[in-house]
Amino acid sequence: MRTTALKLTAAAIGALWAGQAFAATCHNTGSYERWLDAFKKEAIAQGISAKVIADASPQMTFDPAIVKRDHGQSVFQQTFIQFSDRMTGGGRIPNGQAKIKQHAALFAKIEAQYGVPAPVLVAFWGLESDFGANFGNYKILSAIATLAYDCRRPEFFRTQLFDALRIIERGDQRVEDMVGDWAGEFGGLQFTASDYLKNAVDFDGDGRRDLIKSIPDTMASGANFLVSLGWQRGQPWLQEVLVPKEMPWDQADLTIQLPVSQWAAWGVKAAHGSLAAADLPASMILPMGRTGPAFLVYPNFKAFLGWNSAYVYSTTVAYYATRIAGAPALNRSGAASIVPLTAQQMTDLQRALIKQGYEGVGEVDGKFGAGTRAAVKKAQMKVGLPADSYPTVELLDKLGVSRAPAAPKP
Ligand code: CA
Repeated sequence: MRTTALKLTAAAIGALWAGQAFAATCHNTGSYERWLDAFKKEAIAQGISAKVIADASPQMTFDPAIVKRDHGQSVFQQTFIQFSDRMTGGGRIPNGQAKIKQHAALFAKIEAQYGVPAPVLVAFWGLESDFGANFGNYKILSAIATLAYDCRRPEFFRTQLFDALRIIERGDQRVEDMVGDWAGEFGGLQFTASDYLKNAVDFDGDGRRDLIKSIPDTMASGANFLVSLGWQRGQPWLQEVLVPKEMPWDQADLTIQLPVSQWAAWGVKAAHGSLAAADLPASMILPMGRTGPAFLVYPNFKAFLGWNSAYVYSTTVAYYATRIAGAPALNRSGAASIVPLTAQQMTDLQRALIKQGYEGVGEVDGKFGAGTRAAVKKAQMKVGLPADSYPTVELLDKLGVSRAPAAPKP
């Protein structure tokens, strides 16, 4: 799943984390039929066979419900703890462990070949499709064609549509099996068509790359994808840590990597077990600020971010993988006192940051994305608050943001 094709999980994160702003609602006024005819001509020119196009045509229909979903995603405000509890709860940790036992030989073979351990693959499998139980109910070709015709992200989905046809052309899938998420992702790992085309492998040896019905193909393809995103064998990916009362909070930033020995020198300790090798580069993630859960993430974390750039999602998958691998539950000792901003306060904060000259906020959308986070850190440094990049009411006060005025009387 990629943020380019935001769906519910990513949208849910969006409120606090995703960096991508929604474009203003737009409408394509040209005829869908004319657009589709032109697309088919180009597909032929790109070497896709007339037969595949003819087979796919009955499903390449315009679906207004898809556009409605794509334009109408609502913003949820969820903290990391709320989001990760929801994503990893409901038996997903023991179920993930059971899946590893059930497919032990397969996962051993995949780890030997790709270097990606089972808990990481099972974590993606669990969050993306509930271990293959929930693939989505939309016709992929209709969803992608609709989004390629619509004017919000036409180029992205146009490429996806060509690649979806190539998946059929290659014999990996049949038209009628192309069912998945409304944003065009499908199979056990909810790959986009382009990621499927590029990264799918035939691991069960039947000659087809089948990421819908074959668990060996699905899991090995996930490993292959993670390797393409920079996964390194034998290295950790994320670890929960305990932070001291005081430390240079501005260093807790995904763009800053320091050796583990530096974090240890500042008093950062493993929440359980021990820290990774002293010279391994690590970034600190404080998804709810300095009193909330704290993690060190290692170079392999970039593979999670490559899979989905919404970083509360990536942090949640990576954390979930550690839980499947046996890590104890999250330390919540400091979380009770954290008061997250409301959507209105987040919007007010963004307006104030822009007005006061902090760059990178982008659109005022009430979402706590990477740009807003960076601006929050700069503002915290300027007004003398601990620069942990987490916005608080105290920061709003220091920036002179008045409390929301009462609605004007009619
Ligand atoms: Ca196969």
